Amino acid sequence: MGLHAVNKMNCLKCGCENFIDQQVRFRPEVKEQVVEVVLECKVCENCKSPLLDAQQMNVLRKAAADKYRELNKLLISSQIVDYRGKLGMSQAAFARYLSVGEASIKRWETYYIQDASQDEHIRIKCDEACAETNFLDIYWKSHKEDSFSGNRKFNLQIFRNVALYLVEKTKESIIYLNKLHFYADFLHFKKYGTSITGARYTPLKYGPCPDQYRTIYNSLVNRGYLKENENHTYEALVVPDLTIFDDGERETVQYVCDLAISKGVKELYNLSHEEKGYVNTAECAFIDYKFAEDLLIFEI
Ligand SMILES: [Zn+2]
Repeated sequence: MGLHAVNKMNCLKCGCENFIDQQVRFRPEVKEQVVEVVLECKVCENCKSPLLDAQQMNVLRKAAADKYRELNKLLISSQIVDYRGKLGMSQAAFARYLSVGEASIKRWETYYIQDASQDEHIRIKCDEACAETNFLDIYWKSHKEDSFSGNRKFNLQIFRNVALYLVEKTKESIIYLNKLHFYADFLHFKKYGTSITGARYTPLKYGPCPDQYRTIYNSLVNRGYLKENENHTYEALVVPDLTIFDDGERETVQYVCDLAISKGVKELYNLSHEEKGYVNTAECAFIDYKFAEDLLIFEI
């Protein structure tokens, strides 16, 4: 009789013993921000008060924390669990990987909200696209505007839009796109004394290629700007933003695209192997933009 009584629930407000399942809207405050969550809950049949036992309180806390994270553009608990799952790590291993205590992982995966710097740390260590962009950002921040970058600091956003435009117009593979990037930047330099993107170019076996082109193109795929097809051609998933270019830059990019279409990318590819800058630069060095003076592209 005594045990039975312990198991029996009574409404704390009115003492009623009957509960029904119902969707209940809660507005808890999280870090001084009111969030709204709707949860399936047992409510008193008589006065409709929700029954908040310890278990239900945990569900509410987690839902409220996730709502807060969503509103503040932080990873929600299940995304953190997913990152750990993709790496195949236990909570202990994941904690070591992130250099935090195991308790932090346990809490982040439930209701304890990571701060913005912890959030960025998790993303950089777990998200491929984020790590790539971060790497590129650091890599280029340390570069000067000089004759190897066409007197311009590398600008990933501009490079991305040149890439999107070239892909949209030519639907080519990276081997040809690299040459179009080269011609766009070098032609522009010849005409205006600056490159468009600030990219540096190296003479690889297949012709002049933008420095770090693999990482850049991978990050464009990972971030949903481009799709790579099985035959290694690309498709643009985002319309290029041409307003980012000035008139001269837009003209140069369009000119290179028109040439690629009218003459064929193979012709530009072959020509790029004869360019003085390509022929006269050592394999692991960067091509000096001063070679733009001697571009052969005008002769086709
Ligand atoms: Zn009640």
